[in-house]
Amino acid sequence: MEADIAVSDVVQFMYCPRKVYFYKVLGLPMVDRKKMTYGRDEHEREHRRVKERKRIYGIEKDQIKKVQHGVFLVDEDVGLYGQIDTVVELQDGSVIPVDVKYSDYSGVFKNWKKQLLAYALLLERKSGVKVRKGLLYFPKQRKKVFVELSAEDKEFFLKDIERIRGMIKSGKMPRGRDRCGYCEMKKYCKE
Ligand code: SF4
Repeated sequence: MEADIAVSDVVQFMYCPRKVYFYKVLGLPMVDRKKMTYGRDEHEREHRRVKERKRIYGIEKDQIKKVQHGVFLVDEDVGLYGQIDTVVELQDGSVIPVDVKYSDYSGVFKNWKKQLLAYALLLERKSGVKVRKGLLYFPKQRKKVFVELSAEDKEFFLKDIERIRGMIKSGKMPRGRDRCGYCEMKKYCKE
């Protein structure tokens, strides 16, 4: 199967399915907001800072075997692709996908958990290693949050991909969610 769903599509779909309809079905461009550009620049700086610290994303350096940034993976069986911010391999053999969040909120939004599940699925299918948790790192608060990724979560995640694919295939505009205040697609949306 062609890999037709990006991890970012899953994140956007969980935020509001209509966003994905706008850019995947109607082909409308995503608006690049200042906040997003700031995030990207800060991101590069964060990667450079990581090398100088005693801890990496809050994990003691001596527990870490390897750190990789910008790991691009494709899985044609599931039809999913995406670039993982950072993959940390620990000395005990476990593998943890990390996503850095430049947000004032330092909890776990549902779409952020889905993003980690997508990364876990891609890593597991590539390497065969079970990925049992992911990590959200908040540089502003210098806070790390481990997120458990259960087998049940992973099964639900596969259904999410099917839901997204079904929406795209149907070509019907889904209901929006009431999160319009921070939505960069607001100008396209009548609700
Ligand atoms: S403006 Fe609101 S309803 Fe429209 S896509 Fe954005 S979040 Fe969804």
